[in-house]
Amino acid sequence: MRLRNVKGSREKIADNQFVIHNPEEYKGLWKQVFKNDNPLHIEIGMGKGQFIIKMALNNPHINFIGIEKYSSVLVRAIEKREEVELNNLFFIRMDAEDINNVFDKNEVAQIYLNFSDPWPKERHAKRRLTSHQFLAKYNQFLEQKGKVIFKTDNKELFEFSLEEVSVAQWILESKTFDLHHSDEQEGNVMTEYEQKFSEEGKPICRMIIHR
Ligand code: SAM
Repeated sequence: MRLRNVKGSREKIADNQFVIHNPEEYKGLWKQVFKNDNPLHIEIGMGKGQFIIKMALNNPHINFIGIEKYSSVLVRAIEKREEVELNNLFFIRMDAEDINNVFDKNEVAQIYLNFSDPWPKERHAKRRLTSHQFLAKYNQFLEQKGKVIFKTDNKELFEFSLEEVSVAQWILESKTFDLHHSDEQEGNVMTEYEQKFSEEGKPICRMIIHR
């Protein structure tokens, strides 16, 4: 998702109190940023923020960070966040490639990957957020019992991700190829893409994994 020419998006982000501009400086210090000891959940590739804002509203005793690569998209999440009262949600604009510079050992309790870009060309496989290369990065900062929860409509990406879980020797806690018609759907919070795809009748796959 990349929205073109959202006028003034860089300026809006630069001024915004909910965006952490130099996240590397807080590696190991996120509890100080939130001013509490609550667990930290992150969404990588949050898009316009529908999911993470709902999650933050529903779970006031969990800290949330939404990560998004593009300013033009992040600015939409900022606008949504400004409509609600929240003190447990910050945003970071960055490419997740560098995520290890931002979070320290055991600092994150849960990672959400929702409708991640599929990078269909084989030579780009390592850019997929569920590749074993990315799992190795998550390994460095996810709590021992921490989970990665991945949803997608893309069966090829889901199958690839299942293989990568095995390559990385992670543990598959649960998987479904049709979340909305399974008994696992209770408590599921829909993302923007999830809503769109399920309205089109596409089944949603979900896996929960841990290391
Ligand atoms: N998670 C949202 C949802 O489910 O509605 C948005 C899904 S959209 C298909 C994927 C988003 O991930 C885009 O906004 C894209 O810019 C972002 N993204 C992709 N690769 C990323 C990366 N390496 N680091 C940070 N954000 C990324």
